[in-house]
Amino acid sequence: MERATDQAAGNLEGARPVLGRDDPLQKVVRMAEVYGCARLGVMGGTFDPVHVGHLACAEMARDACGLDEVQFMVAPRPWMKGGRDIVDVEARIDMCRLAVEGNPAFSVSTLEAGREGKTYTSDTLRELRAMLPDEVQLFFIIGADTLSTLPGWHEQEQLARLATFVCVARPGREDSAALLAAARAKGFDVEWVDAPLLDISSSDVRRRVREGDTVRYLVPDAVRDYIERHGIYGGGERG
Ligand code: NAP
Repeated sequence: MERATDQAAGNLEGARPVLGRDDPLQKVVRMAEVYGCARLGVMGGTFDPVHVGHLACAEMARDACGLDEVQFMVAPRPWMKGGRDIVDVEARIDMCRLAVEGNPAFSVSTLEAGREGKTYTSDTLRELRAMLPDEVQLFFIIGADTLSTLPGWHEQEQLARLATFVCVARPGREDSAALLAAARAKGFDVEWVDAPLLDISSSDVRRRVREGDTVRYLVPDAVRDYIERHGIYGGGERG
């Protein structure tokens, strides 16, 4: 596993941006000051909407890799996912905030939300690197389908230097060895976390809402209330 100091080689030139006092990143900054190291997990996604599969994935990664904090990084528009309509990023951030409430190790980042044009993970990780002390190690959490696309991502050489990638996948997934080998051959540091994954997808949640089916226990109650209250995904307000 790559050390934080190696990752820091991918840092931006120049002065470190100052974090706000209430910025959730302050927690890992303080831990790095006190203990000389800290581990920040970043769970990137469209989260349209966030569901319990995402939360379980983040929790498994946190536990397996000893992460001090996991930030849900909400992508403004998933340019890699074709032309379908996406709920506004503000609403997706609201839902993520509701979903992580009550878990002191989880927070939501708006770092990507204001970005114009395409959102590249390399830019995000570089920005985080620039904001954080070198003693904070970055982990980018993904599922196995995402891992299969990783060797084709933008600026892959720099990307590989900026974080350890944590792939949370179903135990015994048949192509796990091939996926790992392909990513590692491109220079990526990848940790594999076996987890009993839940067969839940955002597209299934959206379809269920649209068709008036229940999404109880598929998304946190507060997220379900939000979806109902705002009538998103084609569902109306229910009594
Ligand atoms: P998403 O659909 O919102 O899902 C986010 C993550 O959660 C994915 O890694 C997904 O894994 C995982 N997940 C979904 N359902 C799950 C379940 N039931 N159990 C466990 N894990 C589950 O994310 P996305 O829109 O594909 O984006 C993923 C991230 O990759 C984003 O941050 C995006 O910006 C980044 N990305 C970057 C580039 C680039 O820089 N060039 C290109 C592509 C993607 P699965 O892999 O299994 O779906």
